[in-house]
Amino acid sequence: MKLAQDGGTKALTPRLEKTVPMWPPVIPATARHLADMYKTREWSFNGPNEKAFSKAFADYTGASHCVPMVNGTVTLECALAALGVGRGDEVIVPGLTWLATAMAASYLGATPVFVDVEADTLCLDPIKVREAITPKTKAIIPVHLYGSMADMDELMKISKQTGIPVIEDCAHAHGGVWNGKAVGTIGSIGSFSFQQSKTLSSGEGGACVTMDPELNSKLFQLKHIGYDLNPIQGRAWQQPQAGLICHNYRITEFESVVLLDSLRLLKNQTKRREKNAKYLANKLKGVPGVRIQSRGRRADVQGFYCMVFLVDAVEKDPVRNLDAWIKAINAEGIGVGKTYGPVYTHSLFNLPKKAYRMGPGGCPVSEKVGNVTGITLYHKWLLGDTKLMDAIALAFKKVAYAMTAQ
Ligand SMILES: *Cc1c(COP(=O)(O)O)cnc(C)c1O
Repeated sequence: MKLAQDGGTKALTPRLEKTVPMWPPVIPATARHLADMYKTREWSFNGPNEKAFSKAFADYTGASHCVPMVNGTVTLECALAALGVGRGDEVIVPGLTWLATAMAASYLGATPVFVDVEADTLCLDPIKVREAITPKTKAIIPVHLYGSMADMDELMKISKQTGIPVIEDCAHAHGGVWNGKAVGTIGSIGSFSFQQSKTLSSGEGGACVTMDPELNSKLFQLKHIGYDLNPIQGRAWQQPQAGLICHNYRITEFESVVLLDSLRLLKNQTKRREKNAKYLANKLKGVPGVRIQSRGRRADVQGFYCMVFLVDAVEKDPVRNLDAWIKAINAEGIGVGKTYGPVYTHSLFNLPKKAYRMGPGGCPVSEKVGNVTGITLYHKWLLGDTKLMDAIALAFKKVAYAMTAQ
């Protein structure tokens, strides 16, 4: 079939184009709830909507506690601080992730150590984690990248053997369940982002979840300028631990109202994305040059931030490189892009060499995925109907056959 970029018919017809879902969703009832809250003049400081969301999100994940914050970067920073990580410590993070995972450690004066990901799940490789541990290692942050899941069984085994705590970066994995447990509740602390692009979204926002009441209290103090749980403005029940530097990272009632309503939709959205991803994967079986990122090995439910395709692009080949694949699929009307590149090569990552460290062997898998093979399909597409999935599959097929033809 002739590619759209060569004058062929687009896989996404004009009729189907109208069915591409929008993100984030706009809920008319939420507009009313926002207006009602606005009139109360109670806009922040652990207000009723924040409390209600905190309880609802804890219930949703099965965590004992949830501490909402301003975004999913400071949640990681507070998680590290709550576990006592600071200057001179090392924090193991994957080479392939968003900047925030590493920057949270840097902000505390700790050293991020970049460890490679597995070639199938694209999540932190436990074997390489073991090799990267030193006496300075004070935390491990696996990222459930694009919704797949890091091998939590192996990582928790390492954690038990070494005493090094695990923080799960769940910014891509809302709704995911690993062997009966929700993501975020397996390690010591789970960190979520509710930034505009995420699958639960309030523009900006984030939350930590934990099973540990002491960590909950510390996380609350860290984001609430030192106030302990159930604060009354201007009155401290209890002083924070000596030396604990607390911040104001409070979420507002505006975000909490949006989150409370959006959370009600998350379960069905997760189901739909997962069903469509499975359908797409089946349709692409046997198509040359296209593999799909593996599910977490023990995933009961997988949240999808993106569906990730690993293609046989050829580095530096002017016709078959990754950019050419993406351009050809985009020309078919399907909006795909690259995965993250390795954090330490990102244009916004500009720390001196001594401020971070590479794990033994570096991160060749992260580099290959980011630069040569990885293509992402944003989660909103996975909320479409079967005809839209057929169009996406058709676009990949057309381009894959053209790119792999002799
Ligand atoms: C989005 C994201 C975060 C947090 O980002 P914020 O924009 O600060 O909420 C953290 N880790 C990963 C992997 C992310 O994608």
